[in-house]
Amino acid sequence: MRKIESIKSIREYLSVARKADSLIGFVPTMGAIHAGHRSLMRAARADCAEVVVSIFVNPTQFGPSEDFAQYPRPIKADLAACAEEKVDAVFCPSVEEMYACGSATTVQVSGLTEGLCGGHRPGHFDGVTTVVAKLFNIVQPDIAYFGQKDAQQATVIRRMVHDLLWPLKIVVCPTVREPDGLAMSSRNAYLTPHERRQALCLHQSLSEAQAAIEAGHRDTGKLIEHMRERIVSAGPCAIDYIAIVDPDDLTDLRMVEKRCLIALAVRIGSTRLIDNILVDANSSAG
Ligand code: AMP
Repeated sequence: MRKIESIKSIREYLSVARKADSLIGFVPTMGAIHAGHRSLMRAARADCAEVVVSIFVNPTQFGPSEDFAQYPRPIKADLAACAEEKVDAVFCPSVEEMYACGSATTVQVSGLTEGLCGGHRPGHFDGVTTVVAKLFNIVQPDIAYFGQKDAQQATVIRRMVHDLLWPLKIVVCPTVREPDGLAMSSRNAYLTPHERRQALCLHQSLSEAQAAIEAGHRDTGKLIEHMRERIVSAGPCAIDYIAIVDPDDLTDLRMVEKRCLIALAVRIGSTRLIDNILVDANSSAG
């Protein structure tokens, strides 16, 4: 496996794969690799002759009071994990490498970025779409892999790729969870043991809402209220949002009619956690 830090070197390295007409699969990450990231690497490995992972903690997607400085950066363990997943190359540029020329250009997807996390993290999605656009231009993958765990991010990136006519396919892989249901996240490492137990209420509230929909409940206001009660009763926390939206355009639904995305963001202690679940009301008994 190659570890590559400069844009020039990764371009040179990939030009060989491109000449050989190899399918290039790309998994962008911020590192602190866990089983969720690994599932994306495995999907890429199964599909593509050349698999590239990027590890870059992107400063422009963090707000001024967010955790950019303390975000975990266990690069040695990350490289070992990528090697175990038989990744061909890891691109791990410095901030200076990615933003050397300064930046007068921002890639902004309107509409989809305004609600859910976008409403609580101003500028976050501009940072994400701009850095992913840069990474796509550097790697020029045939297929890029993202996680359903960050459902809004995946939807926004799909839209960016569509709107900018990028000749690349986006694959969204299912959320990987701990055995007790907590969605894997690099930020779970911030949780104290007590907060870790409390955090189970996120997945539990999502599962209960799914069961309620499958039992025939359709009123999203009531479903959200039950979820709120469930989360608040688990312990002190700050709920950024609980929403039931159309999975394609992320607009709020008043009634669940067909497919819906139930998404939430909750702060437990100083850790902000997100989770979501896709529910198809038509496949239920109700
Ligand atoms: P991050 O390093 O948190 O920016 O995540 C990099 C990629 O891994 C994104 O596409 C995430 O959606 C995906 N990812 C993160 N956590 C999970 C998870 N628990 N299951 C599946 N994919 C995940």
